[in-house]
Amino acid sequence: MDWWNLQIPVPVALAVVAAMGYLISRQRRANPNDMVTRSRRELKRAQAVASELEKIAWAVRQSLARHHASVSRFKDHVSRLSSQQQEAAWKELCREAEDILKPTLQLATQIANAYDEIRQQSANLMTFTEVRTDPLTGVNNRRGLDDALNAQFALKTRYNATFAVAMFDIDHFKQVNDQQGHLHGDRVLQELAQLFDESIRETDIVARYGGEEFVIVMPHTDLAGARIFAERLRARVHQQLTVTVSGGVAAVGDGDTQETLIARADAALYSAKTDGRNRVFCHTGQDTELVAVDEQPVGVA
Ligand code: GH3
Ligand code: MG
Ligand code: MG
Repeated sequence: MDWWNLQIPVPVALAVVAAMGYLISRQRRANPNDMVTRSRRELKRAQAVASELEKIAWAVRQSLARHHASVSRFKDHVSRLSSQQQEAAWKELCREAEDILKPTLQLATQIANAYDEIRQQSANLMTFTEVRTDPLTGVNNRRGLDDALNAQFALKTRYNATFAVAMFDIDHFKQVNDQQGHLHGDRVLQELAQLFDESIRETDIVARYGGEEFVIVMPHTDLAGARIFAERLRARVHQQLTVTVSGGVAAVGDGDTQETLIARADAALYSAKTDGRNRVFCHTGQDTELVAVDEQPVGVA
């Protein structure tokens, strides 16, 4: 069977390969960590693939329609010859032509069905990503955060893998809204989300926890590392944006649940607020303490 008989244009074939590459790469990353990498980037990639698949489906339908038309013309031609000449040889030729063309048409139908299936999967992927994405900022919403934390707790139970969370809240954000308007406030939220998103590692996830509160989940990060990272983020916001943030950090401990872990980060954040804002506090498990501005990684002079 000759695949080129389908006459699928080269760009379509390339687009199929690109889409397959994307889907296969997702497949390869299908481990619990995969659950925590849904973000703005993921949504963009899903959108790009979806639009590629739309083009593929359209082009394939065009190719099939053209192919089908030429097959029909060929059959008509042969049968016309057959009726004019009334010769057994023409009838035989007609039957042979049908036999040759039938598998090609079957294959074309199978491919069209396969594309429909890919489009459906792509739509599912879009839905999956959209329901976990905050529409204003493009980062994860609460549902995305829940999934990410569940995945981290599963990794902790199975491999005793550690992780940490940081909760950030914009300082005096009510004033920003009151003085400069709600639309400006929305833009600030978008800028902050983008800055977080650009600053985190590929395996970290950022989520909008509530109105002007964000949570960052840091897999494979202990409390010492999370303190330094959160403080660096706070300083970056202070340098680059027109608002400041306060932060609270906590690392997972034995017997923790999502609620107890988030509650510790929240308690640390509360300490940062009452201590004057624009600073990061850490929950040690017993108490909260200020993270020094120039804190160095453990073991570094
Ligand atoms: P603090 O430093 O103690 O955090 O003070 P604050 O003013 O930031 O805290 P408060 O909780 O009193 O106010 C939070 C404000 O966040 C209130 C609300 O108007 C604003 N906010 C929440 N969600 C949104 C949003 O989606 N867009 C905008 N523009 N503002 C929002
Ligand atoms: Mg708040
Ligand atoms: Mg606030």
